[in-house]
Amino acid sequence: MAEEVNFICTACPQGCSLTVLMENGEVLGVTGNSCKKGLDYANAETSDPRRMVATTVKIRNGFHPLLPVYTERPVPKPMIPQVLAEIRKVELEAPVVMKSVVLENVLGTGINVLASRSMPAKG
Ligand code: SF4
Repeated sequence: MAEEVNFICTACPQGCSLTVLMENGEVLGVTGNSCKKGLDYANAETSDPRRMVATTVKIRNGFHPLLPVYTERPVPKPMIPQVLAEIRKVELEAPVVMKSVVLENVLGTGINVLASRSMPAKG
């Protein structure tokens, strides 16, 4: 039986409200999109939803005690709790340069976790 799924397209700031008609995991049609990117977004969101992950890690001897970090690409949505748990295990030593890899290939996803900013050592 066909079902409707509603969500907001986040592929651009316009934020169109998409309605996706689905049956047995197949997309039958998409409405509400103002451009083709919305179709691609709807297909990706219903087959392999992904999100960027941004959080902080501990850093010793840094100007601040925490360093903001982010995944270089979106990770599969169901893996987000495990990805956050892996990132929580990281503890760095200042100084750290912006965009340096703080965790490589997190959970075998092929996605690195990068420093969002540089962090000088204190003193
Ligand atoms: S459908 Fe197109 S215009 Fe609408 S939010 Fe998505 S990318 Fe933007």
